[in-house]
Amino acid sequence: MSDSQRLADLLLPDIDKAIDYYENMYPPRELPEGSRVTRVAPSPTGYLHIGTLYISLIDRIAATQSGGVFYTRIEDTDKKREVAGGIDDIINGLIRYGIEIDEGFVAPGEQKGEYGPYQQSKRAHIYQCYAKHLIAKGLAYPCFCTEEELEKVRKEQEALKLRTGYYGKWAKHRDITFEEAKKLIEEGRPYVIRLKSPGKEENRIYFDDGIKGRIEMPENDEDFVILKSDGIPTYHFAHVVDDHLMRTTHVIRGDEWVSSTPKHLQLFKLFGFKPPKYIHVAPIMKLEGGSKRKISKRKDPEAAVYYYYEKGYPKESVLEYLMTIANSDYEDFRRANPDEPFMNFKFSFKKMSVSGALFDGDKLNDVSRDVISRMKVDRVVDYLLEWSAEYNKEFYRLISADIDYTKKIFNIDRDVPKPRKDIAFWQEAVDYSSYFFDETFKPCYDLPENIDVADAVKILDEYIKAYAPTDNRQEWFEQIKAICPAVGYASETKEYRKNPDKYKGYVGDASTVIRIAVTGRRNTPDLCQIMDILGYERCLQRLKSAREFYKNLSEGLK
Ligand code: GLU
Repeated sequence: MSDSQRLADLLLPDIDKAIDYYENMYPPRELPEGSRVTRVAPSPTGYLHIGTLYISLIDRIAATQSGGVFYTRIEDTDKKREVAGGIDDIINGLIRYGIEIDEGFVAPGEQKGEYGPYQQSKRAHIYQCYAKHLIAKGLAYPCFCTEEELEKVRKEQEALKLRTGYYGKWAKHRDITFEEAKKLIEEGRPYVIRLKSPGKEENRIYFDDGIKGRIEMPENDEDFVILKSDGIPTYHFAHVVDDHLMRTTHVIRGDEWVSSTPKHLQLFKLFGFKPPKYIHVAPIMKLEGGSKRKISKRKDPEAAVYYYYEKGYPKESVLEYLMTIANSDYEDFRRANPDEPFMNFKFSFKKMSVSGALFDGDKLNDVSRDVISRMKVDRVVDYLLEWSAEYNKEFYRLISADIDYTKKIFNIDRDVPKPRKDIAFWQEAVDYSSYFFDETFKPCYDLPENIDVADAVKILDEYIKAYAPTDNRQEWFEQIKAICPAVGYASETKEYRKNPDKYKGYVGDASTVIRIAVTGRRNTPDLCQIMDILGYERCLQRLKSAREFYKNLSEGLK
């Protein structure tokens, strides 16, 4: 038996399988040629980040558009940074945004698929088997260096102005013998397993990144850690083993991993596995003081998907917005195809930004207003109920008391060729609809400057006399026109424009007074529909209250 095989048995005595066992257990997938197998591999160290959602969306599209598979894998090897409920939070978030998951964690606590377990902490035996394979081939070894020793080496390297790290002659245990290792283990010294890198810094490696194109870097010569002292793999090692065994074809990940790619490619080569295609996505950026920076968990509330939940951005809006930042020609597609699902857009990695797409909250709102304006009222109301049940109980109580009434409110100017774009997120619906509910209606009788308080009294007096429930907009408007002469206002806008000096105002001003009385606002959607929904009695009562107010005011002014 070779020394390296003896070393492998000494270090990992419980591993009794060869890698063929797992190679056979997880055979190549039977998918049509060209199908992409993608995955998102979040670490449950906090809430779902907008960047993870962005990458998952791209994974999903890449898989769907090629007839492939998209799966989730939880990278929970760093137990110190893990937060309770982190896995569920991420999976629930993806589900909530409608990112369909074919395999892996498909729901909290539920895994599906033939390539699992899809949680790294449950795969220690697999990583150890692959590490043992490398040790037995003389391609990995135990390193007993303490933190202090490593620190000392680093300082020496710095003093000599050399690249820091565990490589070449600095790699103290690189040539450790079986006997030496055995002795140190018997002394109870902790150790990690390092790769015995055959690479040389002066050699170059190349790979074709799906977004950034051809990348050239020095070959890896560092004897980086593959198994930590607790037998748990580092990201580098777990990535290679998992993405190989789960038969991932396209690794779409944050571009902070570009610099580690030589390590990964080296591992694939040493194992003799075909590497995946790498697609390194630049982070979503924010503009701050004129310069771009990465969107940050610490500084930007928009980094967490909770922000979108709480404000009530529908998932369609968030995904639609992410599509606009993923491929800049997406907006042309949307303009040409207002009603097609985004999945029909011809997505391309090559069209993604190399330096990082900019997050723009105003743009998100514009996109969302557009998305919401195109929704059917039933969907709007379902969303409002769902959102308010969680984030605004008071509003929930109001809108759930009479669903038909609520539907009427949110159906104003909807389902027409040019729908109104008033609402960007559900929180805005609260204020938007507040005057429809007596509990939240806030009278505000501020008149535009050109309307006299005494005239407002007259307008309301006349209108209260003339006001009657109507069947249509025309009749409703006729009632307002009809009161104009008595107040010295022009009934016809055109006539007023021709002879402005002849009149104190025109029918538009009269309806402003009525609008303010009924809604407390100067700008609203179609007033006729609003009054119809509010109902005759309620409107009459509001008109009278406003009249009282102006009357008292004008008397006080005398
Ligand atoms: N767990 C890694 C991360 O969260 C995954 C990177 C990858 O997709 O390979 O950054």
